[in-house]
Amino acid sequence: MKRAGEVIAGRYRIVGAIGRGGMGEVYRATDQALGRDVAVKLMLPVPGTLAASERFLREARATARIRHPHVVTAYDFGDHDGCCYLAMELVSGRTVGDELRREGLFAPDRAVHVVRQAAAGLAEAHRLGIVHRDIKPGNLLLADDETVKVADFGIVRFLEDCTTTLTSTGQIVGTSHFLAPERALGRPAEPPSDVYALGCVLYQLVTGHPPFLADEPASIMFQHVQREPVPPSELRPELAGDVEALLLWMLTKDPVQRPTAAELADGVQPPVEADAGVLPVRRTAARPVRAGVVAGLALVLSATLGIVFATRDVKLPTTNQLSPSDSRITPPPVVPTTSSPPSPAAIQTVTQTTLVPLPQSDPSKPKPPDPGPADRPKDDKPGQDKPKKPKP
Ligand code: ADP
Ligand code: MG
Repeated sequence: MKRAGEVIAGRYRIVGAIGRGGMGEVYRATDQALGRDVAVKLMLPVPGTLAASERFLREARATARIRHPHVVTAYDFGDHDGCCYLAMELVSGRTVGDELRREGLFAPDRAVHVVRQAAAGLAEAHRLGIVHRDIKPGNLLLADDETVKVADFGIVRFLEDCTTTLTSTGQIVGTSHFLAPERALGRPAEPPSDVYALGCVLYQLVTGHPPFLADEPASIMFQHVQREPVPPSELRPELAGDVEALLLWMLTKDPVQRPTAAELADGVQPPVEADAGVLPVRRTAARPVRAGVVAGLALVLSATLGIVFATRDVKLPTTNQLSPSDSRITPPPVVPTTSSPPSPAAIQTVTQTTLVPLPQSDPSKPKPPDPGPADRPKDDKPGQDKPKKPKP
C-alpha cells in the first residue's frame, strides 16, 4: 500500500488509493512531468511473480493498442522497486458495479446505454484481435458524465496467440457468473464470449443479479451451458420487449448466434423470427441429449483440471438470508426465481474478486457442506433447480 506523496518511477506522485483488485492496487496520482492527473496501477507482489508480471505486461500492451473513447487509455508502463506499474487515464467516477451497489437497479434505458458504450469499446478491441475475457460490472468504469470505459485488460487474450483458455496450471481465468458456455466447456475465449459476459452484466444491471446463481462455480458454469436464463420480465415486468430481447440475444448459448460487439454498439435490434416472437426469447426446456453431453463435459473438465474461477463480484440481496441452522443448508444448484427485484437497500455486494478452487467434483457423490449463508442470495432456495415452465 503506497502512501500519499510517494513518487512512483520518479514521476507519478500518489494522491490517494482508488481501488484494489486481484492483481493490483490502483492509485490516483499526479504526473509531475506533464502536470496532469492519472491513475496508476501497481502490481501486487504475489507468488509466481514471473507469470504475474507477464500478465501485467499483457494488460499494458493490450490497453496501449486500443485507442477508443470507451476504453481506458494507457499512458506509460514500467518498473518501480521491482513491481510493474501502469499509468493510465484517470476516470473520475466509479465502476458500474459500485453504481449498482449504491443506487440499486438501473433503469432499463440507462442499462442499455451503459452496455452499448462498453460494446463500442469491446468492438475496437475485437477488431484489433484482443479478447477481454473478464467483462463484469467491476471492470466497467462509469465517469461522472455517464461515459463508460472498459478497464482491466489483465487477463486479456490476443487472438493470434495459440494459447487456449486454460493456463499452464490447468485453470480457466475469469469470473464464473459472467462466463460464456463455450468457455465453461474449456474452449478459448473468443469475441462472442465477451458479448455473452456483457449480456450477463446487462441482466445484473436490470434484475440485481447475474443470470445464474449458485454456491459453487461448477454449478454456475453448468447452468451457463445447460439452462436458459429466467426471462428478466418474469422478475421485472417492465423489461418485456426490447430490453429482454436484446438481453437474451446476447445470452444465446451458441456464440455464432450472438450479436457482435460492433452490432451492439450500433444499436442493432435482435432479429425477429418469421413466426412472430423475437428470436432469442426461448422458453423451451433445456435440450435433453446435447445438454446432457455438454453438462457432463463441464463436470469432467472441472473434475480433471481443477478449474479456478473468480466468483465474487456479484450483488447479493441480504434480506431473508438463510441462518446456519436452516435445513436448506445444502441446496442443489439453482436458478434465480425471485418474483420481485431486490430494493437498493437489500443489495449487498461481495466486492473482492477472488480465485476459488473448484472441488474435485464427482457428480455421483453428495455435495460438500455449504460454506455458510454469507455468500448466498435470499432467492437461492433448494428445489428450484428445474427449468422454467414454457410460457403459453
Ligand atoms: P485489478 O486488475 O486489480 O482487478 P482493476 O483495473 O480492475 O484492477 O482496478 C481496481 C479498481 O480501481 C477498479 O475497481 C476501479 O474502481 C479502479 N480503477 C481502475 N482503473 C481506473 C482508472 N483508470 N481510473 C479510475 N479508477 C480506476
Ligand atoms: Mg478488476
